[in-house]
Amino acid sequence: MDFEYSPQEEAFRQELRAWLAANPPEGYDPETFQYLDEETRFAIQLAWQKQLHRAGWVGIHWPKAYGGRGATVMEQTIYRQEMVRARLPEVANLMGIRIAGPTLIHWGTEEQKRRYIPTILNGEEIWCQGYSEPGAGSDIAALQTRAVEEGDDFVINGQKVWTSYAQYARYCLLLARTDSTVPKHKGISCFVVDMQTPGITVRPLRQINGDAEFNEVFFDNVRVPKANLIGEKNQGWQVAITTLMFERVTFDVLSPVEAVIQQLINVVKQEETTAPALGVDATVRQQVARFYIELQAIKYSSLRQLTRQLRGDPPGPESSLVKLAASELNLRVVHFATALLGPASQVAAKSEQGIDGGYWMHCALSTHLFTIAGGTSEIQRNILGERILGLPKG
Ligand SMILES: Cc1cc2nc3c(=O)[nH]c(=O)nc-3n(C[C@H](O)[C@H](O)[C@H](O)COP(=O)(O)OP(=O)(O)OC[C@H]3O[C@@H](n4cnc5c(N)ncnc54)[C@H](O)[C@@H]3O)c2cc1C
Repeated sequence: MDFEYSPQEEAFRQELRAWLAANPPEGYDPETFQYLDEETRFAIQLAWQKQLHRAGWVGIHWPKAYGGRGATVMEQTIYRQEMVRARLPEVANLMGIRIAGPTLIHWGTEEQKRRYIPTILNGEEIWCQGYSEPGAGSDIAALQTRAVEEGDDFVINGQKVWTSYAQYARYCLLLARTDSTVPKHKGISCFVVDMQTPGITVRPLRQINGDAEFNEVFFDNVRVPKANLIGEKNQGWQVAITTLMFERVTFDVLSPVEAVIQQLINVVKQEETTAPALGVDATVRQQVARFYIELQAIKYSSLRQLTRQLRGDPPGPESSLVKLAASELNLRVVHFATALLGPASQVAAKSEQGIDGGYWMHCALSTHLFTIAGGTSEIQRNILGERILGLPKG
């Protein structure tokens, strides 16, 4: 692999960096963002998405014909690097940009694309992903939500869970069972559901860290026009595979662990909080260096994944390796930091007794999500066991 960036790629980086420096998101401060309430954070992210969109910086990986930039894989990588470097927030319509939009571009009819794509990009219509259910997460094909044909509609009954941003969403990309007489993968269909349809109840789930990012969503005789099918009836599994492939490529587990290790390095250097600085202790220095080395190893493994993408190959088992290693490293760093910093790390809000304004408390309660979302650590180990080590299926 060539580790150098081409002159065009460097030019892309400079253009983006200059734009970001000249156009910071309004009302956003990386130091205080996490302490704002959910709605205020969402409003800042929405304004940021609109600002980025006006300058053509949203959905850069989408084809130009659908309002994207048709960015190369390397440009997408540079984009992510620059966003992390500048500590900028995510856009509000994360599910729309990363998942629903690319899925619609792949599977939607021309009419569906014309209707939904522009407002996903500009943030006017927020999307959510209704795949997981109480009894179907790792094994999505076990889903029980039903869609029964009645005239020009399907009537949907059932429950989804962990539906991120459903409380803000206008549309849901929903999987439901349309035939229960065939093997489970063959009787699923995918729909666009207008979240304002009568019969839908959204209940936010308050998490241990105080956020309520995801929800339970209940469907009680919800009528969805047949025109809202994505792909053919009973072709939902193939649509879901496309979505999960996009999720696997765009779910960024590396940036959060990079940020957490950088914050650990910063805190062990500080004398004012823990004089003398914790970083003078040999055991602490060794452990922090070990984390940093592990991170570099994961980053180089992720470049293998990038090489596959550059060749146009589908994501391979390398992506499971990176997902597993990065999310588990993230957990270990946070456990180490909270043990090292002691009770001061458990102060949640800005306080004179706290360290880093509650950053570590928030991390300690939130970091587990990376070992679950986008496929749990156990599922990644299964993939590695079967596809790299050639072990029999469990
Ligand atoms: C922050 C966050 C946001 C999310 N957002 C969304 C969203 O917007 N839309 C959506 O549809 N879903 C969303 N999810 C759900 C996510 O996809 C699921 O949580 C995930 O797939 C795991 O499913 P589950 O929670 O049902 O756990 P389960 O599948 O029930 O697993 C429970 C435990 O059993 C283990 N396990 C399961 N099967 C196996 C096996 N075969 N071998 C070994 N161990 C196994 C798992 O690793 C886990 O430890 C989100 C999750 C999180 C954490």
